[in-house]
Amino acid sequence: MILKIEIGQNNPILRKKSLEIKEINSDIQKLANDMIETMNKNNGVGLAANQIGKNIRIFVIAKEVSKKQVFINPEIIKISNKTENSEEGCLSLPNVFLKIKRAKSLKIKTVDEHGNEFKLKAKGLLAHVIQHEMDHLNGILICDNVK
Ligand code: ZN
Repeated sequence: MILKIEIGQNNPILRKKSLEIKEINSDIQKLANDMIETMNKNNGVGLAANQIGKNIRIFVIAKEVSKKQVFINPEIIKISNKTENSEEGCLSLPNVFLKIKRAKSLKIKTVDEHGNEFKLKAKGLLAHVIQHEMDHLNGILICDNVK
C-alpha cells in the first residue's frame, strides 16, 4: 500500500523525536513493506516512519543502496571523524537539494522486520543515507544541517 508522505520543514510530526518500537509484530512487518513500496514509488533512497505520519523508530533504505532494507530501533555504534560533503534531497522537502556534511563511514546496530539483530558497516552513499534517516528519527531535517 502506498502511504501519504508528510511534507514541510515546519510539519510537527517531522520535528518530534520518534519513539522506540517495543514489539516487532505483523503490523510492523506490514508497515515496513508499505514504507518500501512508498519509497520506491517516489524514487527515494530512504524513508523514515515519521515521514508517513508514524512517530516510531524505523526506517527503510532502497535495495540499490543497501543489502539490508529495514532498520528498527537503529543505533550508530561507531562513526568516523572524517567527513565529506554531498548533495542531498528529501521526500518531505520537495525540490530542496542541499550540500550536507556527513561522516564518511559508520557502524550501525539495529533489528530487522523479523526481530533479528544485525550490525552493518557503511561508507559513502549508504553512510550518508543512514545519517539522513537517523536525523529524521530525531526530528532533524536537511535544512537544519547546512554547513
Ligand atoms: Zn529525508
